[in-house]
Amino acid sequence: MSYFDNNATTPLHPSAREALLNASNENWANPSSPYRISAKVRASMQKCRESIASGLQTDPDQLIFTSGSTEANNSVFSHLSQNGDKSSRILLSPFEHPSVSEAAHYWFSGRVDFLNAQPDGTINTGELQAYLNKGPLPVLVSIMAASNESGVIQPWREAARLCQKFGVPYHCDSTQLPGKERLDDLSLCTYSVYSAHKFGGPKGIGWLVGKGASSLLVGGEQEKGRRGGTENYPAIKSAHRAWESVVQAPLDISGLSRLRDDFEDQMEQQIPGIRIIGKNSPRLWNTSLMIMPEFENLHWVGKLDKLGFQVSTGSACSSTRTGGSPIAQALALSLPETQRLIRISSFQDHTHSEWKGLRDAFAKAHLSLQKESLGSSVISL
Ligand code: PMP
Repeated sequence: MSYFDNNATTPLHPSAREALLNASNENWANPSSPYRISAKVRASMQKCRESIASGLQTDPDQLIFTSGSTEANNSVFSHLSQNGDKSSRILLSPFEHPSVSEAAHYWFSGRVDFLNAQPDGTINTGELQAYLNKGPLPVLVSIMAASNESGVIQPWREAARLCQKFGVPYHCDSTQLPGKERLDDLSLCTYSVYSAHKFGGPKGIGWLVGKGASSLLVGGEQEKGRRGGTENYPAIKSAHRAWESVVQAPLDISGLSRLRDDFEDQMEQQIPGIRIIGKNSPRLWNTSLMIMPEFENLHWVGKLDKLGFQVSTGSACSSTRTGGSPIAQALALSLPETQRLIRISSFQDHTHSEWKGLRDAFAKAHLSLQKESLGSSVISL
């Protein structure tokens, strides 16, 4: 099996698996309890927090563990809406993950503005500057670092600096960066969010970083009263191990992008008419979002799966439904185009031969779909 859907989730890294099992076996005590075995868990959890915060050049007091990015994103909007003026507005990029855009609409109903989508999958910081110049200032600007769908990297550093200049809090959904890009400068953001299962850690654990960050989960004094619920120490320990083994390991980004770029060039020759979203934009080295020239994505995905390759449709099935593909909506793709979207997302250890295998599998799947479609038109005659 060759798994090319790493923007959805990644397999557990061996060192993270070991940490998860050891912590579950040996350090299962409730971190809040008053005896020594719990104090040991508390101390270890604090060490994980300090180590991660130091990698992000932030104060450990500004990092709270959450169940992942969905909770972290929701927390930012719930926190601001409850602590701000009830008429204040917020500004979002049009490409946000639903855990940002839907949380924004829920907590700031009728008070959400959007930047325009450029055809290359980015936003324009000139438009952001004009919005901020014009005023009134929003209580939050939210622009993701990199799209989980297209891999396009937004000019988030520039946006963060602009927001700093205007004194406006800036939230960056940075979920797709760790394990793929350099993380320095994330401390420019007022809030950033992390999800361990995107970089070899376990599912259901992540964190929110930001001044006064506070979760929407109330009803417990954990995390200094800022996120209720017994901490999942084994998951925290395992996420930290993945962070050390995967995120902080040196990465040859140009070598990795070359593999993806060669794959795209060859796919364009092999299946004429393919369109690659954001092809000339700054992009994560691991992602390709393609609009196939023919056949619906689920047919492609099914064929490729049988050939041993997992890829994603890159979107929900309808471009018009709420909760559908944000990129399809932002770029105003037609429904048939949306239904032909396929997303490939590799990870650090994918080799040249796996990429070649994927390309060959596409050729076989294409042939098979063409044969089937010929067969079906003959039958329908
Ligand atoms: N934001 C982005 C950009 C994502 O890719 C994802 C996961 N698909 C999330 C948020 C939600 O993350 P989690 O699975 O940790 O809730």
